[in-house]
Amino acid sequence: MQAVINVGIVAHVDAGKTTLTEQLLWRCGEIRAPGEVDKGNTQTDWMDFERRRGITARATSTVLHYRDVVINWIDTPGHADFAADVQRSLMALDAAILVMSSVEGIQGQTRAIARALEELQIPVLLVVNKADRAGSDTERVLREAQRVWKTPVWQINEVQAQGTAEVALCEDTPALREGKVLAAAECDDSIAEKYMQGEAIDPSLADETLRAAIAHCRLFPAVLTSAALSLGIDTLLETLCRYYVPAPGDTDAPPLGYVFHLEHDPDMGKIAFVRMFSGRIKSRDVVCVQRTEALEKVTQVRKFASRRCWDVGEVAAGDIAVLCGLSDVRAGDVLGEGELGRSCHLAPPLLSVQVLPRTPDELPRLLQACVELTQEDPSLDYIWLPEQRELHMHIGGTLQIDMLRELFQTRYLLETAFSAPTVIYRETPKCAGTGRGVYTMPKPCWAIVEVKIEPLAPGSGLEFVSLAEDRHILRRYQHHVHVSALRTLQQGLYGWEVTDARVTLVDGENHLVHTHPMDFFVATPMAVMAALEDCGTTLLEPVMEARMTGPEACVSRVIGEMLALRGELGNPAVAEGRFDMSCRVPLVTVQDLPARYSSLTAGKGTLDLSFSGYQPAPAGTQAWTARRSVDPRDRSKWILHCRNAL
Ligand code: GDP
Repeated sequence: MQAVINVGIVAHVDAGKTTLTEQLLWRCGEIRAPGEVDKGNTQTDWMDFERRRGITARATSTVLHYRDVVINWIDTPGHADFAADVQRSLMALDAAILVMSSVEGIQGQTRAIARALEELQIPVLLVVNKADRAGSDTERVLREAQRVWKTPVWQINEVQAQGTAEVALCEDTPALREGKVLAAAECDDSIAEKYMQGEAIDPSLADETLRAAIAHCRLFPAVLTSAALSLGIDTLLETLCRYYVPAPGDTDAPPLGYVFHLEHDPDMGKIAFVRMFSGRIKSRDVVCVQRTEALEKVTQVRKFASRRCWDVGEVAAGDIAVLCGLSDVRAGDVLGEGELGRSCHLAPPLLSVQVLPRTPDELPRLLQACVELTQEDPSLDYIWLPEQRELHMHIGGTLQIDMLRELFQTRYLLETAFSAPTVIYRETPKCAGTGRGVYTMPKPCWAIVEVKIEPLAPGSGLEFVSLAEDRHILRRYQHHVHVSALRTLQQGLYGWEVTDARVTLVDGENHLVHTHPMDFFVATPMAVMAALEDCGTTLLEPVMEARMTGPEACVSRVIGEMLALRGELGNPAVAEGRFDMSCRVPLVTVQDLPARYSSLTAGKGTLDLSFSGYQPAPAGTQAWTARRSVDPRDRSKWILHCRNAL
């Protein structure tokens, strides 16, 4: 069987990802000639066009062949606004190609993606592109990479005459040969010892060591390229196929797959892009969607290349394919048996917008479109408020509004308007508190729940423990309390998601005769909300990390501005007449800074915003959001609602 490797390409916008992809497709024989971004005739542009016509799916992944390796090529969006989408693509990878520009260096989104790759332990291949462009400084970018990732970087090729059209790349110089041995020595003590004693190092041993170090993310190879001049492309492919070894997983084990992307195709319906981690899935197999625990039948297993699509009948561990026929599947779902053993956390959606149809009679169609889009990207998490007749969506950034507007228009023929985005807050308990939920009337029903809620350290998320005795409350009802408590905490006292808290089931009671299986889903929310009332909650606001540069003469103006935005400034570093400074600043105050930053720095500054975390909002902040359903604190209405009697 041919080796299969799942490779993703990630980059900050404008680093040259499209140009590079075009070159790779060409080298692998996928296209006859590379297109050019500036002429608008690249493969990705063509796919965009196809996308607009509703023939979707193909932009996401394609199959390349290089020597005897099959490369499943996975494209990821470059912008921070699409973090959730990036996150899911990363989950499917065996290796990530991280493209940086040798002029602009490492930018905010690249850092965030690099952190996610580290968390997922995905081997990285660094590409320093645009070696021909004026201002190119590959050494500086490589030094910066080493500093940012605290991982040794092994430089694969060298540049001559960089920053000019005469630029040339070479991969066999005495310094590079020495560099390779040094990289291997850095990863293996026995090689280091031989090297010190001046002994020759067996090249295959060095290669073996380098492969292992790369697989464990202890070494990042770096290839210099000029995608525009088609330089360094073979070196990139060669390095990838030679040093990156996928770990496909056991093909004979039970099936386990991850849906990293989902689309609605006009002909085929829902199509799920799946990375298999173990076992196989064949056409007509029945698989379990873990989120719903439903068993669903796969009608087709297909492969996609840039302009073709064909039936393959089955997909095995280590490979990716498209599954058709799964009706209730979403992006991010796990299929089959067992746990993935991988998870990663990029920025959560930080903003909420209201989506408005052009006329009220288009609302049902808009709602249906939102359902579909949320299946493709669950982080959009559309919210329909029936009483207000309002539709809201969660987004990562304002760019996403444009994307959504275009999607509604091209795919659903719906004109939409969006409200100004508002910040998504969170809540956390102020102190420990207790609450009790009693649901014993009107009979037949019986569920009593007593919970304690207490704050945890920032970043801990939610925890649930049960101290209740099985003879008071059956194990399976304790499980209901667990599920229901976490669900209730999606909306705290002010309607925001509650975080950094532990819920303890202290005690409870079921009745041998009267308890109905759903009763604990009625009592638990009442107990949890009562406990939250008891402890009170603090509002948390999202905070961004702003990295700013600009001319030294503007530094005091920038500092003044950041202080006015409630920023917490780090010490500015000043060198060669320019400042470089970072600052933590609340998202709610910093939203329109990107538009003004250029004028603050006489057009010569850069501003990079990335999500940093949540912090308590200033005292007196008034922020609440509408409830998605009946408030369990309104006891009688809640019970009627649960009994479907409203
Ligand atoms: P993406 O946003 O990362 O997909 O980047 P693109 O591939 O669209 O490239 C952004 C711009 O940089 C385009 O104008 C490209 O022509 C240009 N570009 C890409 N690679 C190179 C390169 O190697 N050298 C130079 N000089 N320009 C490049």
